[in-house]
Amino acid sequence: MTPGRKHAHPGHGGQIETVTWNPTSGCDTVSPGCERCYALIFAKRLKAMGNPGYQHDGDPRTSGPGFALTLHPDRLDRPLRWRTPQLVFVDSMSDLFHPRVPDDFVAAVLDTMRRAERHTFFTLTKRPARMAHLLNRLRPEPLPNAWWGTTVEDNDHTRRCARLLATPASVRFLSLQPLLGPLPDLDLTGIDWVYVGGESGTGHRRMHPDWVRDIRDRCTVAGIPFLFKQWGGRTRNAGGRVLDGRTWDQTPPAYRNPDGN
Ligand code: SF4
Repeated sequence: MTPGRKHAHPGHGGQIETVTWNPTSGCDTVSPGCERCYALIFAKRLKAMGNPGYQHDGDPRTSGPGFALTLHPDRLDRPLRWRTPQLVFVDSMSDLFHPRVPDDFVAAVLDTMRRAERHTFFTLTKRPARMAHLLNRLRPEPLPNAWWGTTVEDNDHTRRCARLLATPASVRFLSLQPLLGPLPDLDLTGIDWVYVGGESGTGHRRMHPDWVRDIRDRCTVAGIPFLFKQWGGRTRNAGGRVLDGRTWDQTPPAYRNPDGN
């Protein structure tokens, strides 16, 4: 069996080819970075199209049509059926560490990652405190094929970094997307990969180039791979992805393309 549609990087645009695996779907907003959540918008369309995975509506104050937190136990073993090695973005349409995902279900997701050792899984959350707590309890020995990350969209949320550092992980990454302000308090110690992106869509919030330069320069000094995804704008590709005359596409040392590069 081959996996479904391939994406360029973690579901948000970019240069690394990934497949997605959504053992859960739906979510609730937690911070300013969620304001234009692409998954929330996309779930509404999927519901209208009759997609059976997106028929439950979430709380209109924090979620939306088709975006209620939903478990999909029938999808748990999907990666085991993909024969060729893949870079798998986990829960592009959800947050695995949402409080309504039971501990046992997270344990089952981890078990699939363990058994599907030919793949590399990467999981991004805005709830790193629960991630740290659960992984310390369920999998204190880091899975070599799992990368764990958190989002920091503004300086008020740099504390998420400390939770990420408390997570047992072979690779820890930061998604600074949508970057909504400068991050003077962000400490990159212990981080293995950073990517930055601007917001897109109607009413998108602009990203100042100096905020990006500051992160890039600190990554360069610290030897941390840095990837610049896009400036954002009315559409995702509207502003391009060139920063100071070039593109930035560094990936963690652990990353290997399916062809071995
Ligand atoms: S945490 Fe992620 S998936 Fe959940 S609402 Fe926010 S941006 Fe969307």
